[in-house]
Amino acid sequence: MKFKEVADEAAGCILCPRMAGERAVLSENNGSLASRVVFVAEAPGRFGSGRTGIPFYGDKSGDNFQELIDHVGLSRQDIFITNAVLCNPLSEGVNSRPTAKEMTNCSPFLKTVLELIAPELVVTLGGVGLSAINRLLGTRYKLNTHSAQLISADNFQLLPLYHPSPRVANWRRPLAQQKKDFQLILKALHLPS
Ligand code: SF4
Repeated sequence: MKFKEVADEAAGCILCPRMAGERAVLSENNGSLASRVVFVAEAPGRFGSGRTGIPFYGDKSGDNFQELIDHVGLSRQDIFITNAVLCNPLSEGVNSRPTAKEMTNCSPFLKTVLELIAPELVVTLGGVGLSAINRLLGTRYKLNTHSAQLISADNFQLLPLYHPSPRVANWRRPLAQQKKDFQLILKALHLPS
């Protein structure tokens, strides 16, 4: 299956009733299909990619993410970004967590994208992204215990990191610490730091 076919299928997908009218964020705007690293976050945000169609672009989480990749010298052309669910799971007009059923619904898209790109490294951003990868691998990695650890997975290395949202950066993992965590990406890819 080609990437365009997957993206077209996602664009027409109505498996999750509350997201049936939302845009599935999967296109060339997600990054390079030749990328050595794929980031898996939670879901498109209302003011971010749910609006712009560009992952981590248009909101404060996007600004923080840009700061993190800038810090380690990665550009958007070097990476691919996707989410546990491709559509914005709005609840009463605000962002909410995807349900287990919604993650199950969207899991085949994530699996296919990872098969197409075949990255050396998968970086999960937050617990939901890690949970999506756990579903594919049949593992039970937890953010609290496995964050910032390089793990050998089936066909790639896995690096669970925190989400760059302002809430997480303010209360759980400061951006300064997240910048140190991002250095592990360079280590995993044998790039100079
Ligand atoms: S989140 Fe995924 S499975 Fe659900 S409607 Fe969107 S594309 Fe389909």
